Amino acid sequence: SLSIGIVGLPNVGKSTLFNALTKNDALAANYPFATIEPNVGVVGVPDARLGKLAEIFGSAKILPATVDFVDIAGIVRGASTGEGLGNKFLANIRESDAICQVIRAFEDADVTHVDGDVEPSRDIETINTELILADLQTLEKAVPRLEKDAKRNAKDKDAQELLAAAKAAQEVLDEGTSLSQAEGVDVARLRELSLLTVKPFIYVFNLDSDELADEALRTKLQDLVAPAEAIFLDAKIEAELAELEDDEAQELLESLGQSESGLAQLARVGFATLGLQTYLTAGPKEARAWTIKQGATAPEAAGVIHTDFERGFIKAEVVSFDDLVEAGDMQAARAAGKVRMEGKEYVMADGDVVEFRFNV
Ligand code: GDP
Repeated sequence: SLSIGIVGLPNVGKSTLFNALTKNDALAANYPFATIEPNVGVVGVPDARLGKLAEIFGSAKILPATVDFVDIAGIVRGASTGEGLGNKFLANIRESDAICQVIRAFEDADVTHVDGDVEPSRDIETINTELILADLQTLEKAVPRLEKDAKRNAKDKDAQELLAAAKAAQEVLDEGTSLSQAEGVDVARLRELSLLTVKPFIYVFNLDSDELADEALRTKLQDLVAPAEAIFLDAKIEAELAELEDDEAQELLESLGQSESGLAQLARVGFATLGLQTYLTAGPKEARAWTIKQGATAPEAAGVIHTDFERGFIKAEVVSFDDLVEAGDMQAARAAGKVRMEGKEYVMADGDVVEFRFNV
């Protein structure tokens, strides 16, 4: 499933948000370095379609798509050179698909800011710089080894290309640019180095609840991270939302001028950023959402359920969620000609409700 590593300065609300998302209560204390253990939380993505499907199919269980959140210690200026606890913990997010930077925008005299005052643009710079420095360190260690490999295997094209990509990456990073924004670096080649700045970034601004609906402020903050889509939330409100029933949570959000919880925003932006989508399966046992790449074919989608399903794929019975709901049930959808038999070449659409036929 999609995994998102959470980074940020100390005291910006990372633990508060992580705990709200994962509903467990690790320590969230008001001092730097409070979060000393890496945490991984598996979180179900809110998806109203699943409730509807469960109704139609009489499903006993609902299994949403999941996102893994990895929470690490706060990164401070100089973390990459060994100050604070930052760099050691970066290891825990090396395997994440995306990096989520939490940025403090709330004012609270009782909550210390490591750099004195609340200044989102400076904080974004600090974190970006530390991640760039961490990647430079990784490359500094790796390049001598890659050079040796390239020399020893002069005819090995892969070794030559890996070395060239690593050196190009060093140049880009030296200029202070993240690899995700670099042109002319073959970042796919560098996968084995688990670099951080090749990953897509998601920016979360942690605001006071009364600032959430402040359009001028939102525009200002959004501009800091464009073209990325900023997420706005109040980590403390997220904690409250986690305790509420769905309808009460919706009411609280609306009272704050919000249409989506932070979790729903994170999942939406995360899926979009990484080019992911979901398809659905349903039956008496369960209604379930599965995560696939946009552009995935029917056999590839089947493979997410089980690799045997991809190998033995015969065809897929597909109806779009909207058509199914409009018809009322599968039988009516079939009668209306909305249920299609699709073959190996079919490219999945978001919200396809599918039953696979396969040989095992
Ligand atoms: P971390 O170091 O980034 O993990 O930050 P924490 O989640 O431990 O939060 C640090 C302090 O800030 C705690 O006292 C939180 O209660 C407080 N805090 C977190 N989010 C907010 C917020 O949105 N508004 C306010 N006023 N305080 C917050």
